[in-house]
Amino acid sequence: MKSHYQILIIGGGTAGIMTAAQLLKANSKLDIAIIDPADTHYYQPAWTLVGAGDFSFSKTAKPMASVMPKGVSWIKDKATEIKASDNSLVTEGNGSLTYDYLVVAPGLVIAPELIPGLKESLGKGVVCSNYTDPKHTWEVLQNFKGGNALFTQPTTPIKCGGAPQKIAYLAADHLRKRGLLEKSEVIFATPGSVIFGVPEIRRTLMHVIDRYGMHFKPFYAPQSIDAENQVVTFKSVHPEDNQCVVNEGNEIGEEMHGDMTIKIPYDMLHIAPPQQAPQFIRESDLVNEAGWLNVDINSLQHKNYSNVFGLGDVAALPTAKTGAAIRKQVPVVVGNLLSLMESKPADNKDYQGYSSCPLVTGYGKMTLAEFDYEGNFTPDPKLKQMLIKDSSKEHWRLYMLKKYGLPYLYWNKMLKGQAV
Ligand SMILES: Cc1cc2nc3c(=O)[nH]c(=O)nc-3n(C[C@H](O)[C@H](O)[C@H](O)COP(=O)(O)OP(=O)(O)OC[C@H]3O[C@@H](n4cnc5c(N)ncnc54)[C@H](O)[C@@H]3O)c2cc1C
Repeated sequence: MKSHYQILIIGGGTAGIMTAAQLLKANSKLDIAIIDPADTHYYQPAWTLVGAGDFSFSKTAKPMASVMPKGVSWIKDKATEIKASDNSLVTEGNGSLTYDYLVVAPGLVIAPELIPGLKESLGKGVVCSNYTDPKHTWEVLQNFKGGNALFTQPTTPIKCGGAPQKIAYLAADHLRKRGLLEKSEVIFATPGSVIFGVPEIRRTLMHVIDRYGMHFKPFYAPQSIDAENQVVTFKSVHPEDNQCVVNEGNEIGEEMHGDMTIKIPYDMLHIAPPQQAPQFIRESDLVNEAGWLNVDINSLQHKNYSNVFGLGDVAALPTAKTGAAIRKQVPVVVGNLLSLMESKPADNKDYQGYSSCPLVTGYGKMTLAEFDYEGNFTPDPKLKQMLIKDSSKEHWRLYMLKKYGLPYLYWNKMLKGQAV
């Protein structure tokens, strides 16, 4: 195997495959290798529906070999170190590789060890997560007979920030259908201050919360999990009050302030585990203080190494980490790489933070949050052609887009390098 490539891409996930495919569409002669140890490529956005029993898990997975763009060399290996000042990286099985240009797209890693008690309990009994095993979530939901259904998320950035609440709405709707909602308390406890940052979407979601009679608990950061007694301890992340009050009661209705801790018992728990950049990224000199890849937020070029680009979940971008965001990031990275190869500046700064979150609010119901770095609501004009006048409102057609339209576009267009 050769050891030098014109373009090396770390990661054959959504970002890596789309970038390679679009580069080759622009110039089929490029010498590109993707490094990825995984046998399987996943369409993770559908895991929300898998967790609610409305999508088959097997349809979210395809062999990695089948999604590798023709003309790319797949190095089935793991990157373990980046030496950007030498234009090289180290792999587990193939030693050092050198490059002219590097695209860093290894996604993020799940870090349950950051919440005491989570690593031991995740995926067992009634503690589930769509982030790690959505089939288990569905089992837990089906076995639930009433009581406290607790949904929460960590203080770290996570992929698809809306996913922890989507499954809460689907669970509430599932319980309603089974006649169990009256016998249940559905609680969504989040470190965030509001249910969603975009006001248009927030209004709809508050209405959804009321409809299901859910408890929305802002400023609640999960601190530890006692799986034996089925209790989560939350700490307040309220910015103002710092009184030291410890509440050992099990009051769901309690307001959280300051240094307070509150314990909430659960009969089922869905949690988005803490998440961070992979260790070899955090240990490199390519990261910002928070440990994410330090790229220019508009051009996606690395701030210190001009021949390095980063996109997808690993990138330090102040927007939601989604595949939808990657769809808009890829053409910018590709445009800038092609410019550099022609000795022109990487001056494409078109990425304005677009991301989108398909907020499923029940079976057959969805609102589509599309937004930019400023949190402006930026709905795609093409939605009008689908007879969706206002995507901030719940719509059956949006749910159909999520369940059928987007998976089709993903496998057949986006991964093939086509603009959609
Ligand atoms: C439950 C859930 C719901 C979601 N819902 C949505 C949604 O509705 N809409 C949406 O747009 N997005 C959604 N997402 C987010 C979306 O799936 C991710 O943002 C997207 O997959 C990120 O792409 P990526 O290429 O950065 O990382 P990934 O797709 O995770 O790929 C990373 C790749 O890098 C490889 N890799 C890792 N480490 C190394 C290494 N050391 N060396 C080489 N290769 C490595 C991995 O094997 C993997 O193949 C959801 C995610 C989850 C979990």
